[in-house]
Amino acid sequence: MSSVKVQLNLLDRITRVIGESHDFKATVNNIVSMVKEEMATDVCSLYLYDEEKNRLVLVATEGLDSTAIGKVEMKPSEGLTGLVFETMTPLVVQDAHEHFRFRYFPVTREEKFKTFLGVPLISRKSPIGVLVVQDLDNRTYNTQELLLFNTIAGQVAGVVVNARLLRELTTGSQGALSLAKPERSSLVLHGTPATPGIAMGPAVIMEINEDFHYIVEERTDDPEGQKKRFREATEAGRNEIEALRERVQEQLGEEDAKIFNIHLMMLEDQGFNQKVFEIIDTGTTALYAVKSVLGGYLRSFQDMDDQYLRDRAVDIEDVGRRVIRLLSDQSKDGSLHFHEEGVLITRLITPSDAATLSTEKVQGVGTSAGGHTSHAIILSRSLGIPCVVGIEELLEVVQPGDYIIVDGNTGNIFINPDEHVVKEYKRLLEDYTKHVVELVSEKELPAVTLDGYKVNLMANVGLLSDLKFMDYYGAEGIGLYRTELPFMARSILPTEDEQYRIYRSMVEGAKGKLVKIRTLDVGGDKAISYLNFPVEDNPFLGWRSIRMCLEKVDIFKTQIRAIMRAARHGQVGIMIPMVSILEEVMGIRRLMEESGRELMSSKVPHNSAVQVGIMIEVPSAALLAGKMAREVDFLSIGTNDLTQYTLAVDRNNKRVAHLYDPMNPAILNLISVTARAAREADIPIAVCGEIAADPLWTPLLIGLGITELSMNASSIPLIKRSIRLIRHEDCLRAARRALKAGTSADVRRILSRFEKMIQAEVVFQPTELH
Ligand code: PEP
Ligand code: MG
Repeated sequence: MSSVKVQLNLLDRITRVIGESHDFKATVNNIVSMVKEEMATDVCSLYLYDEEKNRLVLVATEGLDSTAIGKVEMKPSEGLTGLVFETMTPLVVQDAHEHFRFRYFPVTREEKFKTFLGVPLISRKSPIGVLVVQDLDNRTYNTQELLLFNTIAGQVAGVVVNARLLRELTTGSQGALSLAKPERSSLVLHGTPATPGIAMGPAVIMEINEDFHYIVEERTDDPEGQKKRFREATEAGRNEIEALRERVQEQLGEEDAKIFNIHLMMLEDQGFNQKVFEIIDTGTTALYAVKSVLGGYLRSFQDMDDQYLRDRAVDIEDVGRRVIRLLSDQSKDGSLHFHEEGVLITRLITPSDAATLSTEKVQGVGTSAGGHTSHAIILSRSLGIPCVVGIEELLEVVQPGDYIIVDGNTGNIFINPDEHVVKEYKRLLEDYTKHVVELVSEKELPAVTLDGYKVNLMANVGLLSDLKFMDYYGAEGIGLYRTELPFMARSILPTEDEQYRIYRSMVEGAKGKLVKIRTLDVGGDKAISYLNFPVEDNPFLGWRSIRMCLEKVDIFKTQIRAIMRAARHGQVGIMIPMVSILEEVMGIRRLMEESGRELMSSKVPHNSAVQVGIMIEVPSAALLAGKMAREVDFLSIGTNDLTQYTLAVDRNNKRVAHLYDPMNPAILNLISVTARAAREADIPIAVCGEIAADPLWTPLLIGLGITELSMNASSIPLIKRSIRLIRHEDCLRAARRALKAGTSADVRRILSRFEKMIQAEVVFQPTELH
């Protein structure tokens, strides 16, 4: 078969049929006949899984006897189709009737077909059916063709899920499957607000292959040729990324463009290249080798505990997708094409997608995956495109052309909302625009309560491009600079000079404002391959963070030296994570003194008189805060981990997520003890966990004695406005009562008066709609 043109034509026709159709049966019949015709196969059939019967049922076919429709059924454990379903992996078999899983159904007369290709239909990570094509002759399918089938299967899966959903919504589940648009019910889905603002318009859906599973292992006896192809593809990828970087630099500036430096770094990474070559040497294609290496990288990043680092998987995927596209000769431009005006609904946007989005056409973005610290979201913030991320079911629910409202302030996405909701949002959009301008324009105002209590509002950052937001939203400094990224993006330890250059850029970018640089916080599930982390039964209670640094003294001192050198260029604090006992503080002090002496004796310009602080993230550290505070220059409470360790709840385990509640009075008491210790030692006390960005927490944290809040820079205007609305005296009273409460519900009741006031003034949401 089948030029790229034929494939695009087929996809285009299928998309149109899906868009226009009102009847499920007619749609799937149309699709199977188009696939059979355009791909020149002898059969195309669709099997769907019936959960009640636990059977795969033939629902449409072109090429098999049509009387078999609805009659041919098999258990998932039967037949080749069942095998595809069970393994959720595409399967190509020649001489299919000789395969041990082949099962013959007389009514289909299938024994004459030699080649079987099955691709799973997957929804929310579970199989829902199988798309099968068969050929009378033995036929081989190349990766490009498998990619096409995979895309078609994805589209059919969307049709099936939508039809099922509609059946449930419109007929209480028993009616005929229908795709009629006028009956689409309105729905509200909730995700993570990533970029503030409100956007409205028709849904434009873009689906992107999730895991490259269409790339199958193909053998080759020309490893050198494959390596050459890989080198050419990475070279072409580098040129593309450089062009993108230039474009972003022109449009948004130097800082945003630096995101693409990380992509270039990944392409040039020796470890990555070496692994690909090793796999090619086993006799497989470059394409398959890249997929394998990429899969390993993606899995380890996606499994990470830290959302910020988890979001870096998107960068890896972005680079990988580019190389795979270049290796598989797909169309030149791999980024999302967005021709119509509307709201982009997609699984994930990568930085390359974001950089090429037309801000005139894309009014808003909703994604089913991804976190709010991904580079793409950072770019979308610069572009000012409202964005909500992490709504798992989004692609299954939204159909092309559905009317969408993205509320990037609350994290809600409305699908086909009622008229009064649309009206309300239109009004809100006008007000909101004024409101944001007003809030940002207050950036020069101090964050003081009505009765004069001053709070320092600082930014949490991890990337140099975060600096831009720090200024824009009026941060008074950087309260938490997570330094893990350069360590994770490399295959060997970054050198002292490399680290120095990165830290120096951050410190200079902060223009004299304090930057608290947190030392390496790895381990747990944030393993770094070249550091040989041990396998542990309880990695979160194991060899991680400062515990690792105090043993791997060279790594720690290299980082400390790099920070001390950067400290000449601004105001720097060193912040130590995960401290649990006082002896660690003593050990840290000793190593810092040694690092300063080393720099001195080798005559390297530096400033060893940096402030040193610790994070309070472990209950023991909070209970020893009185002693700890005397040894350091500041304390910063990491409430994300403090909650996890105090309540013994894994912060990423959904099964126990209901127990992960920082508002539990146990946590409040630890915050209070820590704040008192800091006050007595006369040092600043910050909170840099997620709660610092929640206006409901603001009065409570102030009442508990916190003097600094560090958060995502974009939350600063809201928190500042909240602070300027309240009285310190009232906060103290509320905190005293909260400390005596037994449950977090009691605490919330105590805060309800603040909540109403703050919500009305600050959390700009259409409360009457919820
Ligand atoms: C915390 O634990 O609250 C914190 C700020 O650190 P991280 O989220 O990086 O673990
Ligand atoms: Mg932490």
